[in-house]
Amino acid sequence: MNTTAKKIDLDSNAHTGGVFARLESDVRSYCRSIPLLFEKAVGAELVDADGNVYLDFLAGAGSLNYGHNNPVLKEALMEYIGADGIAHGLDMHTAAKKRFLESFHERILQPRKLDYVTQFTGPTGANAVEAAIKLARKVTGRETIIAFTNGFHGVTLGALSLTGNRHHRDAAGIAMNGVVRMPFDGYLGDDVDTLDYLEKALDDPSSGVGHPAAVMVEAVQGEGGLNVASDAWLKRLEEICRARDILLILDDIQAGCGRTGTFFSFEPSGIRPHMVTLSKSLSAFGLPFALLLIESELDEWEPGEHNGTFRGNNHAFVTAAAALEHFWATPDFAQDVKRKAGILRSRLEDIVDASALDLRIKGRGLMTGIACPDGEIAGAICRAALERGLVIETSGSFDEVVKCLPPLTISDEELDRGLAALTASFEVVASELTQNAQGAAS
Ligand code: PLP
Repeated sequence: MNTTAKKIDLDSNAHTGGVFARLESDVRSYCRSIPLLFEKAVGAELVDADGNVYLDFLAGAGSLNYGHNNPVLKEALMEYIGADGIAHGLDMHTAAKKRFLESFHERILQPRKLDYVTQFTGPTGANAVEAAIKLARKVTGRETIIAFTNGFHGVTLGALSLTGNRHHRDAAGIAMNGVVRMPFDGYLGDDVDTLDYLEKALDDPSSGVGHPAAVMVEAVQGEGGLNVASDAWLKRLEEICRARDILLILDDIQAGCGRTGTFFSFEPSGIRPHMVTLSKSLSAFGLPFALLLIESELDEWEPGEHNGTFRGNNHAFVTAAAALEHFWATPDFAQDVKRKAGILRSRLEDIVDASALDLRIKGRGLMTGIACPDGEIAGAICRAALERGLVIETSGSFDEVVKCLPPLTISDEELDRGLAALTASFEVVASELTQNAQGAAS
């Protein structure tokens, strides 16, 4: 395996003739740390314009669980387009939507005994979050939503009010009301059950926390730094909500669709949220697509009350249904994800054990990573990885977590290759830091 570094010009104009710097808004982000020009992608591999191949441990920030251009999904989509299948149908009945609803019911909801109706929202994750909080407020007649430290739910104004990240919040330009922030599991250390505070605040009439409409939570916080809520914590959160007539909304936009080893990230805890948001890998092909699952009796929407032009994406219905039928018909796929997650964790443990740096494993399933001492070190490791042919990014309050998010379909050989590059990247950055420290001391 090749873990040697290749000189990559990290000047963002070097590979693009300055086109993006000149013509695209300064708001662009991932392309700054990964300033290449990509042309093709298959499975877990990306190919740049010079023909260089990169392993993808970013996977569209969790939107490509089944890899790039998965052949099963590509064939289904090409066949559909070739037969002049409906591309856009507003929210009218289409054969593609019917098939998706039936497949989702049969493969996902029914086996888990989940009694949800499906609302197709606008196509991004934030659209599903907006719909969830609006419905929670409508159904309960209350305003406050409880959100958690390090939670990330999107950047449209309603979703942003729930998102913790200051960089994103500072861009709001307006007060974001109606949200009370509570500490996520582990926020105050392993010895503190943060739900003691939530429960006390809810029951104390002088706490300043009114009766909320809903609680919005991720079972595994993706952007917030791979923080995992324990099953016991989630179970207790559900009990607290149900005992006080508060709706529990599970944001499974990043951790769902098999990423943690089960279709829904909350399955191991046994909780039954009132609503669930899904997006990212739901289309299975990287197509924009989001939905909100709603307990049937909470579906109090009037027709068209929450609408939008792009509710349900017919091409995404086709690829999503194909993925459900291909990957979720038997337990084999989920078991294989768990097996690969075991390999990932054990190799990350090897990195942590061997390193002179103060490192810590975080996350669950195939969204597991390593917390570094700071964001600068994590960024340097990601740059070293890119030079070794691995696309990988950071998350966390200080961008300090190197986050492995490979496609769930990655082969063992590719996983091994990517982890070898990552191991070499940790080694090289640690040794540079040691050399710098020695240089400064002498
Ligand atoms: N919720 C979670 C848990 C997410 O991770 C994200 C995006 O990363 C969102 C919501 C927002 O999704 P989108 O960026 O598609 O609006």
